[in-house]
Formats: sequence, structure tokens, C-alpha cells
Amino acid sequence: MSANWQRRWQPLLQQWVIISATTAARPWSGAIEKVTTTEQPSHDPGCYLCPRVKRAAGTTNPDYQGVYAFDNDFPTLSSSAPSAQNNDDVLHTYAPAHGRCRVLCWSEKHNETLASLSPENMQAVAQLWKDEYVALQNEPDVAQVLIFENKGVEIGVSNLHAHGQIYAPSFVTDTAVSMRHAQADYARANQGQSLLQNMLASEHVQKELLVEQNEHWSVIVPYAARFSYETWILPNRHLSSLADTSQSELDELAAVYQRQVQRYDLLFQRSAPNITLLHNVPCDEHSDNQHWCFHLAFHPPLRDAEKLKYLAGFESGSNNIVNPLMPEDAAAALRAVKDTQS
Ligand SMILES: [Zn+2]
Repeated sequence: MSANWQRRWQPLLQQWVIISATTAARPWSGAIEKVTTTEQPSHDPGCYLCPRVKRAAGTTNPDYQGVYAFDNDFPTLSSSAPSAQNNDDVLHTYAPAHGRCRVLCWSEKHNETLASLSPENMQAVAQLWKDEYVALQNEPDVAQVLIFENKGVEIGVSNLHAHGQIYAPSFVTDTAVSMRHAQADYARANQGQSLLQNMLASEHVQKELLVEQNEHWSVIVPYAARFSYETWILPNRHLSSLADTSQSELDELAAVYQRQVQRYDLLFQRSAPNITLLHNVPCDEHSDNQHWCFHLAFHPPLRDAEKLKYLAGFESGSNNIVNPLMPEDAAAALRAVKDTQS
């Protein structure tokens, strides 16, 4: 079989990914994303994330400096106490959609991006991730704390003020259920060992898929990457969540994370759109949680500087993502960006 056409098993999601490295070479007839850079002011009185601005719900933001977090004015999950209503009728099952939704601003400056933050401000961002995770995981009705960032107008972000979000539902999300199941299964079959730690230690990852490795963290392209330039930041020891990080681990994560954001910007020659997810262990009482290893995932929607990846008919109908780039080639391209920086 040609190396350019492969199904690769994604062991964390227990899902096949199709690597089809020829589809990228096809004549492109889809949307071309123009590189647009609009000069932004440092303060926008019309932006609900800027200091001193009155938000839609009537609250006025404080005159904050650095990071600032608040409850989302338009939450996806109900913040009122969960009702006991459940219906287990298999054809009409329902349950409460309860939880906390938070908004995290990375800087008081409207025109700042994660790539341009000072090292101290970037460390404050990582500290905010940890503080929010620790506070929310201790709330009685929270089963998972998913910290994420949607970046870029290309993926529908309406506000360019650099910010992240947290959804902290009273249930464990489907992806986390799959990841937990996969890691627990692996541990049971391998004398309790960690799936992600063994993945990181494997010779193929170390030789072909590593982008950067430091004292505490490693950046890799996963073997079965679902997005062309998908990367994960993995801890070099088994950590369940940000709550387990030492200060030096957290500070180094801030630096590694920022370098990876800068790498994407340099690769795509723009402030690159991205989706970033912090996969902390769920905080319910499930016994399989002990096998969960923290990681941070980037899901960049760009196939190259001008082309967005869409889920087309085959993928929508099959749930088997097609990646048009060999993950080993993506890792080499990302490493080369690092080389141009040094
Ligand atoms: Zn703003």
C-alpha cells in the first residue's frame, strides 16, 4: 500500500482517520481565504471585552489590566440549579443542560494577540487557566471543565479581542467520555501505563512527529492527525490536569504554547485562525479518571495559507476525517518554522 493512502487509528478517540496526501494537490475550486489584516485600536468602546465598556446584560467591565474573567452573558448552559427532570424513554431521552460558561480575556488591549503578549502576560494567561480550572472543578454540579479558544473570523468569531472561554457542564461531554474510555482501556491492557505518555515516548513520534521538546513539555503532530497541522502539547510526565502542574511547569507551558501560536502565524503568514482545547481530566468521581493524561490540542482549520478545511459529504456521512497532508510532513514544516525563528 502506498504511504500516501492510509487509514490511521486515532487511539485517543478510537476512530479511523484517512490520510490521503494526494488530495491537497488537486486543482482547488473552493473558497480562497484572503489574508486580511485590519489595523485594530488598542481600545474599542464598542467591544464588550474591553475595559470600562458596558456589556449587553448591563454590567460594566472594570478598568482591568492583564487577564479578566467573567460569566458569559449569553451562556449555552443553564446556570440555575439543575432540575431533576430526566426522561429515559429511548426515543425521547432528555436531561438538564446545566453548567457554568465563562469568558476569559487575555489582555486589556483590544489589539493584542496571544502571539504578541509579553512573557509575563502569557504566564498570567496560563495561571488564569489553572485558577479557573481549580475553582470550577470544586463546584458541586460541575463534571468537566473544558477551556478552549476560538480564534479568527474564518471560524465565525465575531469579536477580535483576544479571549478564550470555558464550558463547565454538569455532565461529561461525549469526546471526554471517549478519551477516558480509551485511556482506561489502554491502561488495563498495559499494566496501568499511560496511553499518551507511551505515545510520546514511541520511537516514531520522537523521530518523525516531534515539533519541539523542552524540560516539561513536548509538541507533537499526532500520528493520526485529523487536521493538516493539528498539534498536541503533552506533558513529559503523567499529569491529570493543570491543577497538578508545578509553577515551573505552568510557566514553561505558557512559553511553549505561545511559541506554537507564533509558529502557526509564521507558517500561514498571518494571525492564523485556530481552535485550541485544554483537555483536563473530568471532575466527576469516575474511577477511570486516574488514567487520564492532560494535553492541549490545536485544531487549525487551514490546510494551507489560503485554504480552509470543510467537512464535506464523505466526512459528514462517515465520521472518518480525511487529512490531505502526511502528519510527518506537517511536523517537518512546523519544525522548519522554528528553525527560521532561531
Ligand atoms: Zn476589546
